[in-house]
Amino acid sequence: MNAHLVESTRVLPNELEFVVFSAAPEINPSKQSGHKLMPMTINGIGTTYFGRKNIREYVGMCEQCQSHGKLTDYETGHFFSIIFIPVIPLGRRQIVAECAACKRHRAMPLKQWQTLREETLNAGLADLGENMENAEKALKLIYDMTVFNQLAEANELAVVCAKQYENDFDVMIQLGSWYEQMGKEVETEKCFSRAIEIDPKHPHSQRIQAIQAIDSQKPQLAAQFLDSMRPGSSAYDPSLFLLFANALQEADLHEQALQEYQQLIKQAPELGADKVFRKRVKLSEKIQGTPVTMLPKAGLFG
Ligand SMILES: [Zn+2]
Repeated sequence: MNAHLVESTRVLPNELEFVVFSAAPEINPSKQSGHKLMPMTINGIGTTYFGRKNIREYVGMCEQCQSHGKLTDYETGHFFSIIFIPVIPLGRRQIVAECAACKRHRAMPLKQWQTLREETLNAGLADLGENMENAEKALKLIYDMTVFNQLAEANELAVVCAKQYENDFDVMIQLGSWYEQMGKEVETEKCFSRAIEIDPKHPHSQRIQAIQAIDSQKPQLAAQFLDSMRPGSSAYDPSLFLLFANALQEADLHEQALQEYQQLIKQAPELGADKVFRKRVKLSEKIQGTPVTMLPKAGLFG
């Protein structure tokens, strides 16, 4: 299930610098202090990352290219290299949220990262110790522990939280989202089900149930939950309705699918240029025998 209620990159420490692509090779090691470029070599000369330790892979939104996919954190050595061979060590670095699609990421010297980790987690623990009944403090510490790859501790705290705040809707949603990012399906399901029990009419609950119904190929059931999320509502999300429309199509409910596709083109006109979307619409139009397509001319978009 992909409820996507809370984004994983929301808690990245401010101290992390952006690393961006540049066409210029970074061949002057003295410039390392102001390191802003992605390591790269030209004809084998430049800088490179070498080796990976303490790898953490997770799903999230890349803050650079906005694609939703695999992100990776890891420790690495930064080297000045000649003929692709790392020769001069420039110090170890912590890489954060390296995007599988565009390779961009954040980075900082490993020592600095370790200091930041110690400070953040100690402060979080002390803060929670003084506010044992404060769910926000506990959730923040879980996210901080996750960012700093202390996953065993984060898990322990999550288990305690799930019990302590089992009647708190917001905590169940936040914990469920966290478990979802960690790829723990059983726990995700538990937290979300509990949230739905507490407040079934809440937009988050409706969204979760809609996605569950779509996932189990019951688009008619999903339709009931989506009613409160139609265009005009603040909970409207075209990507959710695209999932729904595709589910209708796969259940051979082409007339309904076409109604949803039509609405999507109105709400998100850029979809009209998307190849996969166009193929879907054409298929249902063909089966329905629609004389005139709803799709804009392809030529308009090149
Ligand atoms: Zn990216």
